Amino acid sequence: MLFRCKNCGGNTVFSPSVGKMYCPHCDGIDSEEKEDKGTQTECVNCGAPLTIGEYNSTCQCEYCGSYIILNERVDGKYRPDLVLPFKIDKKSVVDMLRAEFKKRIFTPESFLSEATLKDMKGIYVPFWMYDYAARYEYEGKGTKVRVWTTGDTEYTETSYYRIERDMNVDFDKIPVDASIAMQNDVMDLMEPYDYQQLEGFAEKYMSGFFGEIYNEDSDTLEDRARTKANKDMEDLLQGTISGYTTVVPENKNVTMNKKGVHYTLLPVWHYLYKYKDKDYDFYVNGQTGKIIGSTPVSKAKVLSYGATVFVFAWMALSFIIGILEVI
Ligand SMILES: [Zn+2]
Ligand SMILES: [Zn+2]
Repeated sequence: MLFRCKNCGGNTVFSPSVGKMYCPHCDGIDSEEKEDKGTQTECVNCGAPLTIGEYNSTCQCEYCGSYIILNERVDGKYRPDLVLPFKIDKKSVVDMLRAEFKKRIFTPESFLSEATLKDMKGIYVPFWMYDYAARYEYEGKGTKVRVWTTGDTEYTETSYYRIERDMNVDFDKIPVDASIAMQNDVMDLMEPYDYQQLEGFAEKYMSGFFGEIYNEDSDTLEDRARTKANKDMEDLLQGTISGYTTVVPENKNVTMNKKGVHYTLLPVWHYLYKYKDKDYDFYVNGQTGKIIGSTPVSKAKVLSYGATVFVFAWMALSFIIGILEVI
């Protein structure tokens, strides 16, 4: 399918800066009409053959430049539940990269040239998002030791405590990326996204961008969500236990009930920079503008540049702690 302008017949795209459909040919706003014809392997507009990768859900016709959304890859089991539409357009991303890297003296000149920047792509990356109702029951033994001196004698007093916690935590949308091409550490650095801005899926948000279907199903990837949830539960628990000299856990019991899974698309700008026969990938969070990547001169691994304005959003918790401490 493609989105065609009712006024001029051109291909309309979703504009992140306007937040609406936009026709770059006549400046029309929300003038789009969905058009379905032809097969999955031919351009809806000009009939030219399309080059389609294994996991692509959209592509751009090499002949006429139209953005084509592949019907059967946004349908049935591949229909996303949610999408976070792009909030930052290409021009702003280019400005951000320039601002961030022009102060770095060793950045090669070609790094931010018009020629290389024009190939930057906006990609909707597939994610699974898991909801859990979790409970953490904890029992442990704590001691507090007090030492003081009177005259020539040193006294030590040890108090023994029984520590009990019973926490209920609701996890809302723990994200796990479902794209093999996207390195996990890159996507983890790309977080957080502000999930308040998630929308019900509609194809129009994909017009003008590239998209991928999930490469692995939600059962296969669920362990990663559970690991994240377990780590957060442990951090929350540890935050409630302080002031002891020693703590020995005796019983830990975590139960997690899965309440839902949402197939979701999140926006990422990808910039591939080639320098001395090597590829350098840069990624920019399409909502917050957070930049992830490594420049040719910084030999370090993948880095995160700039700050992000959003706080950790997925642990919307209802947090009930039963505290019992007895000497
Ligand atoms: Zn138009
Ligand atoms: Zn075409």
